Amino acid sequence: MSSTPAQFIAAEDAHIAHTYHPLPVVVATAEGAWVTDVEGRRYLDCLAAYSAVNFGHGHPALIAAATAQLDRVTLTSRAFHNDRLGPFVAALAALAKKDLVIPMNTGAEAVESGLKAARAWGYRVKGVAPDRANIIVADGNFHGRTITIISFSDDATATTDFGPFTPGFRSVPYGDAAALESAIDGNTVAVLLEPIQGEAGILIPPVDYLPAVRDITTRHNVLFIADEIQSGLGRTGATFQCDNVGVVPDLYLLGKALGGGIVPVSAVVGNADILGVLGAGEHGSTFGGNPLAAAAVGSAVVGLLETGEYQERARVMGARLTAGLERLVGFGVLAVRSAGLWAGIDIDPSLATGRRVCELLMSRGVLAKDTHGSTIRLAPPIVITAEDVDFAVDQLEAVLLELRG
Ligand code: PLP
Repeated sequence: MSSTPAQFIAAEDAHIAHTYHPLPVVVATAEGAWVTDVEGRRYLDCLAAYSAVNFGHGHPALIAAATAQLDRVTLTSRAFHNDRLGPFVAALAALAKKDLVIPMNTGAEAVESGLKAARAWGYRVKGVAPDRANIIVADGNFHGRTITIISFSDDATATTDFGPFTPGFRSVPYGDAAALESAIDGNTVAVLLEPIQGEAGILIPPVDYLPAVRDITTRHNVLFIADEIQSGLGRTGATFQCDNVGVVPDLYLLGKALGGGIVPVSAVVGNADILGVLGAGEHGSTFGGNPLAAAAVGSAVVGLLETGEYQERARVMGARLTAGLERLVGFGVLAVRSAGLWAGIDIDPSLATGRRVCELLMSRGVLAKDTHGSTIRLAPPIVITAEDVDFAVDQLEAVLLELRG
């Protein structure tokens, strides 16, 4: 006997801790930019698992790499070498034009790893006194959910009742290079930023901001850590959003799309003068660098990015999406911010919440996600077609018409 979406949702709700508030769609299968629910209804996936599915659901090259590896070996732990890890870290380091990689699993682990490496570099290379290191972050940041990471979040929902928090972080307004420079002192070891703030609503800083941060951090002997977990790997029309503004950070934090939408793969990528300070036993992860995830799937992902095809496609389809969305400004949309195939759309709050807009989009076959009240973000798989882009914009226009009565 087949179950309805409502029955699937009730079964899930009965036994899952309610840390999410999903849209009431129950996905059963997916291909490319489209997902199909348990009753056969198709939806255009305009979230792509927060950019983890940049290359589309079930990309043939990624599925082939994973499937082939399943028959060979899937997990060794780093207690032993595996024949897949060397080629993966070499290819990823080359893609980022750096020397070394710390392979991890989730995005939050990459952030934690980057913070640990920066602190160790601060004490061992910069000469900061023991336990005095500080790291500068930006207001409105989102870097994950661990205790240390939420220690520098200003989102009350993410932090309330989870203290005490990790000390050693200072938050400054995002996009304000002068404020950032003023917060630096002799114990500052790093600046950690999202090149575009995703969860905050696709907030794009002034074009001279990241170059200024690069200049400031270099002058003060402070590391620049770019969290490209959501902005990187093709999404914004470049391999890294930093490329779009001509900036090379000291450390890249990567995740999400690095796992090809198949398995969690994350990494810190940087040069040996920083990541080389960590010694055996000082950091690790049982699954980090495993032959299936990091090595087979991650290598295949790097292979896709090496072609430049996805970056180009994100630029072309992104321009089409942006042009379509900008036509809606003044018709229920207050503002659109976009970079490549990534868009934040501020809906007129007097019309509807972002959640309501997402529900109505869902009823019209488009899946999107709200953030911060009345903003929705679109981040479809980069394999999306021009017709699909037009379909998404048309459905949003229809929703706004419906809401405006
Ligand atoms: N950093 C950024 C910029 C993110 O957007 C996210 C997740 O949304 C993370 C870190 C955390 O990644 P994960 O959920 O894989 O831990």
